[in-house]
Amino acid sequence: MRTLFAVLALSAVVGCDQAPVVEAPAPDPAGPAENAIQEAALVQHLQALSSDQMEGRAPATPGGQRAADYIADQLKAIGVEPAGENGTYFQQVPIVESVVNRAFTLSVPGRSYRYLEDVVAFSGTEQARAHVQGEVVFVGHGIVAPEQKWNDYAGANVRGKWVLIMVNDPPATAEEPQLFAGKALTYYGRWTYKFEEAARQGAAGAILIHTDESATYPWQVVQSSWSGTQYSLPPAEGVPTLAVKAWMTNEAASDLVRRGGQNLDRLRAVAPTRGFKPVTLQVRAAATLQQRTSRKTSPNVIGVVRGTNDEQGVVFTSHYDHFGMRDPQPGEAADADRIFNGAVDNASGVAGLLLIAQSMAGADGRPGRSMYFVFTTAEESGLLGAEYFAQHPVIPMDRVAANINVDGINYLGPTRDIVLLGADRSTLGPLAETLAQERGRVIGEDQYPERGYFFRSDHFPLAKAGVPALSISSPREFIGPDAEELRKKQDAYNATHYHQPSDEYDPTWSFAGAVEDLKFLAQLAWRIAAQDEMPRYNEGDQFANARAAS
Ligand SMILES: [Zn+2]
Repeated sequence: MRTLFAVLALSAVVGCDQAPVVEAPAPDPAGPAENAIQEAALVQHLQALSSDQMEGRAPATPGGQRAADYIADQLKAIGVEPAGENGTYFQQVPIVESVVNRAFTLSVPGRSYRYLEDVVAFSGTEQARAHVQGEVVFVGHGIVAPEQKWNDYAGANVRGKWVLIMVNDPPATAEEPQLFAGKALTYYGRWTYKFEEAARQGAAGAILIHTDESATYPWQVVQSSWSGTQYSLPPAEGVPTLAVKAWMTNEAASDLVRRGGQNLDRLRAVAPTRGFKPVTLQVRAAATLQQRTSRKTSPNVIGVVRGTNDEQGVVFTSHYDHFGMRDPQPGEAADADRIFNGAVDNASGVAGLLLIAQSMAGADGRPGRSMYFVFTTAEESGLLGAEYFAQHPVIPMDRVAANINVDGINYLGPTRDIVLLGADRSTLGPLAETLAQERGRVIGEDQYPERGYFFRSDHFPLAKAGVPALSISSPREFIGPDAEELRKKQDAYNATHYHQPSDEYDPTWSFAGAVEDLKFLAQLAWRIAAQDEMPRYNEGDQFANARAAS
């Protein structure tokens, strides 16, 4: 409509004496069909996906497959093309399940550390038996960060050896308040990074030192998380792996260091200083790990709405998996609720993403870059579906302009703020800022930067590959007289129902706020897709160099 009006206006100008004024072309009216994003449709998808029939949507279970089929059927119905393997909507993700035998041993001359009490361990390989024997090198925080001019492995050769590593990142100092992003946790502080870097350095085994305050949770959490079945992707070709990855209590690690002729507290005191050098302990450690492994597969579900520029894309992600069902507990009532319905986490995000996909398929005109919708599996087992997608993308990662991740949507009511984790890291931030202003909204702040939520959902494997990413997170500025009450309700829900069987659909929920957020994300993606320039990470950001290096 606006284009037609501009033509009429121009011809009117031509009719008079003055030289014609050539106006800039009117803005393209094309855009996502935001009207497709309605609360009723959202609730319908959410109820279907979180129903007991889906049995908690665990990967490689009938319930998980039912959820994947539901998503594929919906994509087909709304006219989103398949973009998985062999003309289907599915990309099969291989998942390795492993259980470590409790006979695991880790010992040094004079002491054998007890499995579970002192140490837990797992392997980066699929071998039935892994053995590591060698020197132990204390490498401080175990970080190699060129942009921070920091290298904890400087001058050390750890090939085939053990490395002993502190968790978290070095604290900021008075001289450098922005060192490792100050109070916020960077990816260098995450345990996953520590193991990846140790493997890159050629170590055979790595031991992380657990302290309650550095991990922000007690040793019991480490014990229970690592003693059951572990899930991983098969090692990617050419990517180094560790034969043994271990966590140790502070007491056991102190003992190990003492037997190596050093004092752990003293080593830890010098580790946060630039120029710290790795310390080889005068002790050799030996570990033997036996494990039972098996492989399963579970699909990512992928659809695409082709843009006028099909060479490049914008990728949406949202995980459909959840924890499945838990085993009956002794003495429990037969009808006890054992199904992890995962209504908020993440039937809600999948429902939302289906509607965004519908708004793209029904758009007035085509998007610039193509729009990909990736419904991932095995997020709860360690972002495996997204990691696999990043390793085996259906469009090369360096042609992905941006990733927008939806893991949980707002079920409480309208808000002024929309919280987009990662907005401060890339040129996507200013773009979102402009859109927020137009819509009378604000980009809210990450409430818990020290918890590192940016590293804990499906956008993260794409961010690591250099793709500028955003992930929508919980808002705080509810609108209206109930604002305070809604905030309390939000906190209570997180405390009581997060990752519990009671995360179930509640008919009192309101998605009026979520509908606005989803429209916002659809429009944001449309603009990202239309921009001439590819978005990029800010200079100095941890992920800025991934693309240049690839
Ligand atoms: Zn989730």
